[in-house]
Amino acid sequence: MDCLFCKIVSGDIPSTKVYEDDKVLAFKDINPLAPVHILVIPKEHIDSAAAVTAENSAVIAHIFEVIAKIAKEQGIDKDGFRVVSNCGENGCQSVKHLHFHILGGRKLDVTMG
Ligand code: 5GP
Ligand code: ZN
Repeated sequence: MDCLFCKIVSGDIPSTKVYEDDKVLAFKDINPLAPVHILVIPKEHIDSAAAVTAENSAVIAHIFEVIAKIAKEQGIDKDGFRVVSNCGENGCQSVKHLHFHILGGRKLDVTMG
């Protein structure tokens, strides 16, 4: 499949990994919008939050466990952070492989859009 994040999972495109297990990969965003900007993705290709089903949703719970672990490791768990998943055209999703942005390390803007 011609998918940028599948190519990052396979190693065809390099990334700066911060966490990996058999189901999930986390890596630094190439264009960080905050001092900590990490993307967490399922290794299995899921198009977006709109494509989550009873069959594939277990990985989402696991991703949120991983997010909490990464937040602690990055030292942003106490001050707080934001988790964002852009979906589809109106959500301004640019890469069509489900991903969760972890943004932290500074006070973020209050705007949601
Ligand atoms: P979206 O706009 O789809 O929510 O987020 C896609 C994110 O992927 C953007 O924040 C963008 O900077 C990041 N990104 C795009 N291409 C690459 C890449 O090749 N490597 C990494 N590490 N991040 C990327
Ligand atoms: Zn993919």
